[in-house]
Amino acid sequence: MADDERSVFTRIIAGEIPADVVYDDERFIAFRDINPQAPVHLLVVPKTSEYRNVTELAAADPALLAGLVGVAQQLADEHCGGEFRLIFNTGAASGQTVFHVHAHVLGGGLEEGTLGRR
Ligand code: 5GP
Repeated sequence: MADDERSVFTRIIAGEIPADVVYDDERFIAFRDINPQAPVHLLVVPKTSEYRNVTELAAADPALLAGLVGVAQQLADEHCGGEFRLIFNTGAASGQTVFHVHAHVLGGGLEEGTLGRR
């Protein structure tokens, strides 16, 4: 694949772009979002670049999606008392900018009614 077709997350996984990594195993990497929207804002990213969004991931590999949720819970346990918001932006109109499936784990005292605030 040509360099310019690879997503920023593929480049982070390859170690070509630095990131504040909080989790790393054979299937996933997680790191702090560069532009945090909450006191805790982590991204959990499957290492495969095969899936553009959570719908594709769920259809093709539900076990990998379940594993991602498990990593999100583990990170929430470690970083924000085990309670968290899990967001998968899906499509540009939802705010998705990186088309390599990833989950946002948000936590740290989020207010009710703030979901979808612009
Ligand atoms: P999306 O909008 O696609 O759901 O989420 C992409 C996220 O990746 C955004 O929240 C954005 O701040 C984050 N992001 C984009 N580039 C980088 C980067 O180079 N490093 C890190 N740590 N986060 C990034």
